[in-house]
Amino acid sequence: MEYTKYLAGRANWIKGSALAEVMKKAAELQKKGTKLISLAAGDPDPDLIPRKVLGEIAKEILEKEAKSVMYTPANGIPELREEIASFLKKHDQLEVSPENIVITIGGTGALDLLGRILIDPGDVILTENPSYINTLLAFEQLGAKIEGVSVDNDGMRVDLLEEKIKELKTKGQKIKFIYTIPTGQNPMGITMSMERRKALLEIASEYDLLIIEDTAYNFMRYEGENILPLKALDKDGRVIVAGTLSKVLGTGFRIGWVIAEGEILKKVLMQKQPIDFCAPAISQYIALEYLRRGYFEKYHLKGALLGYKEKRDIMLTALEEHLPNAEFTRPIAGMFVMLFLPEEANGIAFASELMGKEGVVVVPGEPFYTDDTGKNAIRLNFSRPSKEDISIGIERIAKLYREKF
Ligand SMILES: *Cc1c(COP(=O)(O)O)cnc(C)c1O
Repeated sequence: MEYTKYLAGRANWIKGSALAEVMKKAAELQKKGTKLISLAAGDPDPDLIPRKVLGEIAKEILEKEAKSVMYTPANGIPELREEIASFLKKHDQLEVSPENIVITIGGTGALDLLGRILIDPGDVILTENPSYINTLLAFEQLGAKIEGVSVDNDGMRVDLLEEKIKELKTKGQKIKFIYTIPTGQNPMGITMSMERRKALLEIASEYDLLIIEDTAYNFMRYEGENILPLKALDKDGRVIVAGTLSKVLGTGFRIGWVIAEGEILKKVLMQKQPIDFCAPAISQYIALEYLRRGYFEKYHLKGALLGYKEKRDIMLTALEEHLPNAEFTRPIAGMFVMLFLPEEANGIAFASELMGKEGVVVVPGEPFYTDDTGKNAIRLNFSRPSKEDISIGIERIAKLYREKF
């Protein structure tokens, strides 16, 4: 069958992810028996997640709570929305009513729903350059044009953002919103400073733009306790939050949320119902009990987070020792370090050679960039690999780096 002729016109906007390509190649090598060290993941560490405790909760819930195997209300079970509201107040300094929270299928579900109700084909979306590839793909699938704004150690360059907005307006382009990951950004690992956060809100206000704040890494912060989410600084109600428990509970539970008001909240909910009915009930109940019983404090803040911090330090120390002249980011939050090869280097070719010769898997930075400035970047994950693999991985990267440059 020749299926192409059946596809919708908008299917032309659907593109594959370069991440999937890397993972596929790695899986093929592993199948052949090659032992690989992966610094490619975007996951937390399953051994730092209290799986036994979660298992006990799951058993208890399935036996006791008939509703845990049924549909929940489309916006999520009320007790979980209340629990998330108090969780956000306590740990993200954010005052939000449970009525303004919609539980979604992960942060991905939240971003997809927001894209669907906000984006018309041709709309321009401003993001950090580079930004999280999955969101860029989701928005592009809806016909959005992505315009990136360069970043430095303090996050998005708001001066360049304003220039970009002016330039696009002159060209008659319609800017819909700014998509940002202010804390522990993926892929750069940088965190936007408070000053920049305030300036970003001012610009959004001046040009009447919405902001979608992706808070995926707000609970993976190792330093900088006083950094407030954009939403907590938002006086006009122009910040919409896409949140998730994925990096805390594990990416398999699929519990995320939208925080929104008014017509946006209403449309998100109406849009959600026919797409997925609700986030998985069992995951919602597990998340509820996890938060309610204080396990976030006990197992994440006082446990897993310290483990991630240690792994981050091991990675940074190894980079400093083995690649003293290379440029790389030093994250205070999140799970990634971006390493820059020499200017003329090609990250995709390097990653491919690294996998073949040294058995180390990394993700090239290029697909995350909205222009061609990131050809020499590679993204390194420190949350998922073991401490030992981080050290070996960096040593092998450094070996190939020295051979080539
Ligand atoms: C992991 C991640 C998400 C959300 O992932 P889900 O598993 O769908 O909750 C969203 N944004 C960024 C930047 C991420 O890294």
